[in-house]
Amino acid sequence: MKTIDLRSDTVSHPTPAMREAMARAEVGDDVYHDDPTVNQLEADAAALLGKEAAVFVTSGTQGNLCALLAHCNRGESIIIGDTSHIFRYEQGGMAQLGGILPHTVPVQPDGTLRLCDLESAINPDDEHKPVTRLVALENTHNMAGGMPLSSEYTAHVADFARRNQLLFHIDGARIFNAAAALGVDVKALTEGADSVTFCLSKGLCAPVGSVLVGGRDFIRRARRARKVLGGSLRQAGILAAAGLVALHTMRDRLSDDHGNAHLLAEGLSEIPGVCLKGQNTNFVFFSLADDAGLSLDEFVGALQRDYSILMSPYSGERGLIRLRTHYWIDRAAIDKVIAAVGALLS
Ligand SMILES: *Cc1c(COP(=O)(O)O)cnc(C)c1O
Repeated sequence: MKTIDLRSDTVSHPTPAMREAMARAEVGDDVYHDDPTVNQLEADAAALLGKEAAVFVTSGTQGNLCALLAHCNRGESIIIGDTSHIFRYEQGGMAQLGGILPHTVPVQPDGTLRLCDLESAINPDDEHKPVTRLVALENTHNMAGGMPLSSEYTAHVADFARRNQLLFHIDGARIFNAAAALGVDVKALTEGADSVTFCLSKGLCAPVGSVLVGGRDFIRRARRARKVLGGSLRQAGILAAAGLVALHTMRDRLSDDHGNAHLLAEGLSEIPGVCLKGQNTNFVFFSLADDAGLSLDEFVGALQRDYSILMSPYSGERGLIRLRTHYWIDRAAIDKVIAAVGALLS
């Protein structure tokens, strides 16, 4: 039985076109800027997001950290959502390695940070306080259930940052999901940001890699940060080749993943015993009713054992299951999952 893996979109494998592109990739030593495929990926990514330059990094975590190291000095502070990936799930790299202090503000249910909270998080010019250097958003916002942040909201934050002489970073791991969900050009979501990180893996299906984009001088500093973090690779064109396929052929189909997530949510919501908590972009959240007859662990175990369907309890909130659709989850898989959950809870 073919496994249906809904635990995350990070489990997506490279497509056949990616494997082919990887096998044929022209390569060189990227530390010498000699890898034509990496150079192409960086140029295309910068153009697509409307920035001057880009740097290919090994992961989203590394991209965000390179950005913060390039933007901030030790002892400076950034304003960031309290449930953001950078704050919660990147080991506090900014503090560990950069001496940068996160000043958190509450993330609203729609994934935004309130401008009044941002305003009051800026430290005054006072020798007791760290200098506030930057504000960061996450789009789509994971812990808000995959919520896309609109171009209007992003423009407000960009304007706020400019008025207060702050830099503005976007953790756009899934920014192409946001663009697809909102029906806008991704540039509308990155305009006004000094830097943006996005993942080539996850929904775009590349096996490895993220890209950090921004101004030319900023990218030069970010490249230095990447080097000290051990992220400067040699014949990285093998990886960038898959990234180019991701960037040029996988963005437009993300709305299929969103459509499948919607169908999945609808189907699950009709099953007695399932309490649907929400669906945005490619995320679906649900819990089991108290009278469902089995615990979350029993439910997950039975789906895996009897149906080869993988789900996992959500680490962010007890009692909840989070599913993410992706390229390898097609319409037939959605139907199988709904049928299996229905059978299990009947
Ligand atoms: C996946 C993700 C990252 C980066 O994760 P890596 O596993 O390091 O690539 C950063 N931010 C968000 C919001 C993410 O979902």
